[in-house]
Amino acid sequence: MKEPFVTKEKLEEIARDIPTPFHLYDEKGIRENARAVQEAFAWNPGFREYFAVKATPNPTLIRILGEYGCGCDCSSMTELMLAEAMGFTGDKVMFSSNDTPPEEYRKAEDMNAIINLDDFTNIEEVEKELGGFPKKMCCRFNPGGLFALSNGIMDNPGDSKYGMTTDQLFEAFRILKAKGVEEFGIHAFLASNTVTNEYYPKLAEVLFRLAVNLQNVTGARITFINLSGGVGIPYQPWETPNDIRVIGEGVRKVYEEILTAAGMGDVAIYTEMGRFMMGPYGALVTRAIHKKHIYKEYIGVDACAVNLMRPAMYGAYHHITVMGKEDAPCDQKYDVVGSLCENNDKFAIDRMMPEIEIGDLLFIHDTGAHGSAMGYNYNGKLWSAEVLLREDGGWDMIRRPQTAKDYFQTIDFTPEYKKMFPDNC
Ligand SMILES: *Cc1c(COP(=O)(O)O)cnc(C)c1O
Repeated sequence: MKEPFVTKEKLEEIARDIPTPFHLYDEKGIRENARAVQEAFAWNPGFREYFAVKATPNPTLIRILGEYGCGCDCSSMTELMLAEAMGFTGDKVMFSSNDTPPEEYRKAEDMNAIINLDDFTNIEEVEKELGGFPKKMCCRFNPGGLFALSNGIMDNPGDSKYGMTTDQLFEAFRILKAKGVEEFGIHAFLASNTVTNEYYPKLAEVLFRLAVNLQNVTGARITFINLSGGVGIPYQPWETPNDIRVIGEGVRKVYEEILTAAGMGDVAIYTEMGRFMMGPYGALVTRAIHKKHIYKEYIGVDACAVNLMRPAMYGAYHHITVMGKEDAPCDQKYDVVGSLCENNDKFAIDRMMPEIEIGDLLFIHDTGAHGSAMGYNYNGKLWSAEVLLREDGGWDMIRRPQTAKDYFQTIDFTPEYKKMFPDNC
């Protein structure tokens, strides 16, 4: 059973203050989970989680993770700027980008961030842009083929645009070493949203063996291995959540078998989790505003796919709790829809739910990562607020809702704009 991290009374109180829809985050949950991640990998002295900024680019939330030793994983200029503004620089920033505009390498270098090369051709680009290489570099690996786990989870690296082939990786290490790079890391992201404790250990095994080979063959000194993101969360209430302690232990076991045995027991483990760090600790709060009966039963809410794109984009399941009706029988079949002029703007399709009345608050679970972050302005819809529920029961707006004025700002070319929004408005 999935339970909201907030009571109906508290949510109504917040909704009187901040109009729906908004994303609500749970400070307590974020902190407990961040602590558990640190503990799970405490056996590795160099361990660091670089939170994938793209998942939830909100400074208030990322600073909380920073208190637990987390750094930032950035993939673009503005994410680098955000990390820098929050005080993350140097080894606390991983720049894991792809199809990278060369000037972004310069920004990363200015911040002393660790640059993770996605492609072999990036070597020349970085050399041209920076006139040389930082002392520490990382390369992203793609083994090709299929990557399968025993519970049937599978992904298809051979079909993904990321990383270098094995041959390219060896060649890249040789070249970078010849050009003065002293410390090396390898990185791979082979499967997404893995709801199994097996993913990191299995990936680690692949990368650890590769690291031993790379170091033996090229002489490059490998000081860190980046397991990237991909650790999943149970969006569906019947799934079993991952246990980060079991995952940490699983990685430790292969670390000892492969790296320690090869005399590489000082290699640091890095992760770049986004979803696992934040996903369960955020929810989209929305109100039912329409009931429509045609060939099916529809519940129209005041949020739409611009607030949460995953169902429309991937057909992703997000559990919905109708606040105050947790114990009512789920005897109604609804499509829960937003107002976009797109028929895929549905948070739930043919979902059995308790009877919903106009005005009911709906709590759409697990939007803490890749939720608000994937927002957009289609149909002239405005970005919603983000609110943090504090451990003491108070709350803070940590991103204000976008206004019409914000929306029109980038087309501020005309006198009409001045008429709509005189300077004093
Ligand atoms: C998206 C991404 C992540 C985070 O992925 P999650 O599935 O949110 O854990 C980490 N690293 C890179 C390079 C990514 O692109």
